[in-house]
Amino acid sequence: MLTIKNLHVKLEEEDKAILKGVDLVVKPGEVHAIMGPNGSGKSTTSYVLAGRDGYEVTAGEVEFDGEDLLAMEPEERAAAGVFLAFQYPVEIPGVGNLTFLRTALNAQRKTRGEDELSAADFLKIVRQRAADLKIDADMLKRPVNVGFSGGEKKRNEILQMAMLEPKLCILDETDSGLDVDAMKLVAEGVNALRSPERSFVVITHYQRLLDHIKPDVVHIMANGRIVKTGGPELALEVENNGYGDLLAGVE
Ligand code: ADP
Ligand code: MG
Ligand code: MG
Repeated sequence: MLTIKNLHVKLEEEDKAILKGVDLVVKPGEVHAIMGPNGSGKSTTSYVLAGRDGYEVTAGEVEFDGEDLLAMEPEERAAAGVFLAFQYPVEIPGVGNLTFLRTALNAQRKTRGEDELSAADFLKIVRQRAADLKIDADMLKRPVNVGFSGGEKKRNEILQMAMLEPKLCILDETDSGLDVDAMKLVAEGVNALRSPERSFVVITHYQRLLDHIKPDVVHIMANGRIVKTGGPELALEVENNGYGDLLAGVE
């Protein structure tokens, strides 16, 4: 699904290396968690995978579903099945949630060379998915994320994910600022979308999200690299002892 080899990234604007040799292999159906102290390069990794501006890849390669991901435009990556859920979901006043979802879905279909969905077909699908995720029909009509609670924004993001049917979902600290109930909703949404063909990379500061989304593999990132890889027990070690012991001796 995803193979990152020796990825080095710097800021476009300054000579500041941020990623210093990231290696990661995610197979279909797997859920990987990336943890690590603030500033270790977790968000940068997700931005570079999504193709965000401002970063320059200075070495390394990324293969997604057999293709060179770094050679693709951001919209081609989305069409190929990469979905990035942001740490802070944007509010879009004046744009209804349904319009937004339909535009995103049809843009993806267009990039893939597929026909647009008819309004009726779209409505049928979005209502079904919203019901599956216990999302109120009212929320579909409101402007995107405007006045949504933290939990509603997250649920909305999960709905976007369910509509776009990505192969690889990257969640960057989707749990920050969420209360326990909202976090459980995110976890339920993710768990509902887990399948043998779909992979997840869950970036989180806290072990508690991983109580609800059981990862297959846990990585610890520090100073622009993945410095330790293990099973779910690695997340518990972080919870109990912090990063100190784990990162001792890592430069
Ligand atoms: P994390 O998500 O693990 O907290 P980030 O990927 O956000 O880490 O950041 C990694 C490092 O790169 C930090 O030192 C951060 O300050 C720096 N960095 C990332 N993006 C920028 C940027 N646009 N401008 C300046 N510094 C940046
Ligand atoms: Mg951070
Ligand atoms: Mg971050």
